[in-house]
Amino acid sequence: MELPYAEPYKIKVVEPLGRSTRQEREQWIKDAKYNLFNLRSEQVFIDLLTDSGTGAMSHHQWSEIMLGDESYAGSASYFKLKDVITDLLGMPHFVPTHQGRAAENVLFSAMISEGDVVPGNSHFDTTKGHIEFRRATAIDCTIDEASDTTLDHPFKGNIDLNKLESVLKSHSRQKIPLCIITVTCNTSGGQPVSMENIREVSAMCRKYEVPVFFDAARFAENAYFIKIREKGYEEHSIRDIVREMYSYVDGATMSSKKDAIVNIGGFLACRDKKLFEKVSMFCILYEGYLTYGGLAGRDLAAMAQGLKEGTEFSYLESRIGQVAYLGAQLKKYGVPCQEPTGGHAVFVDAKKILKHLPKEQYQAQTLAIELYLEGGVRGVEIGTLLADRDPKTRENRYPQLELLRLAIPRRTYTNNHMDYVAVCLSNIYQRREQITAGYRIVREAPIMRHFTVELEKV
Ligand SMILES: *Cc1c(COP(=O)(O)O)cnc(C)c1O
Repeated sequence: MELPYAEPYKIKVVEPLGRSTRQEREQWIKDAKYNLFNLRSEQVFIDLLTDSGTGAMSHHQWSEIMLGDESYAGSASYFKLKDVITDLLGMPHFVPTHQGRAAENVLFSAMISEGDVVPGNSHFDTTKGHIEFRRATAIDCTIDEASDTTLDHPFKGNIDLNKLESVLKSHSRQKIPLCIITVTCNTSGGQPVSMENIREVSAMCRKYEVPVFFDAARFAENAYFIKIREKGYEEHSIRDIVREMYSYVDGATMSSKKDAIVNIGGFLACRDKKLFEKVSMFCILYEGYLTYGGLAGRDLAAMAQGLKEGTEFSYLESRIGQVAYLGAQLKKYGVPCQEPTGGHAVFVDAKKILKHLPKEQYQAQTLAIELYLEGGVRGVEIGTLLADRDPKTRENRYPQLELLRLAIPRRTYTNNHMDYVAVCLSNIYQRREQITAGYRIVREAPIMRHFTVELEKV
């Protein structure tokens, strides 16, 4: 018999999870004004709100925490991280930052001015936020295939070269400070970008003399998809693929809370010495001195170790395999999800499940609440609440898709937990017709309303 798959780690420390009754959850979610962000973590059994900073560190990482050098300048932990970034990514310069959006803030302070345009593939919300805050415009050049949830395409994060070229042609070079490739593309469902696409985007941008940067939060997961899906890369190691990916870009911003498997941290890496000198000034201003950048020495040390572990094939196989496992369980129960399953999350198609509810009653949020009530599982709405109101008309913006995102923290839950989540959703799917009413807003903030919105049952 062929031996079954098993995780390449065992568990040394456990964190007990509290069970609750449906009656308790009904009270808690009501007290939380039907907003899952308002729940206390003890009121949640399985927390799939995000995979950001929620992973489990290894005992090697915890050892690095103890070895952390807390010197203000020239910390040994900084040099450990520098060695890994040089060796793994081939980037000669870097500054640490306290998380990914801080790296964006530092980089964009040096590069972006009012009136600029920044092409890319479905820029992440903080990336877009930092671009728009500077009165510049993010232009989404993702391939059209990405918006069809049923289409099975191996690289739905790819940039459409025609869309990109028309942006590059229709603006002067001075107005395009950089192009951003998000690997994997979070906003389009954790979908990867192919090496071929990275190479072609890089060549095109070089022709127009526009620098290319990675939004690199999930670069290792992207490398894994290249290895298993792209012709010619089957025999390459993840680290060789990573090095090739970075060889096509001028720099990267990184949220280490994702693929570096730490609870906090980030960095900005680049090739150009002049740019490094410019970003250094903003790093000191916003984050801290260049050898700690808003982090403790121990955080830098754990990040260096996490980057090594996060680029091991066996780890990635287990991590992405678990996400695919949940996707496959849901498919088995007939629960409609985005295809193919992304690297870090499963996206459940709430519009298809609750199609009998009017969109004005927030289908994806209704499904998220039902999932919490059913089994104490917390996911997050990627739908109308998140899409917010039109800034001019103040009308709700109804996106094409109403999704419930189940993001899987790294090395944190077992496949039994995945089975549990899948059965919860299957039960809801079976009784979907009995869900006859959604929710309405009673209070909301003028922007980023989803974090603090208050709802009531219709
Ligand atoms: C999480 C994330 C960011 C922002 O990073 P933070 O560490 O949360 O500040 C930027 N881009 C992508 C693609 C992300 O997933």
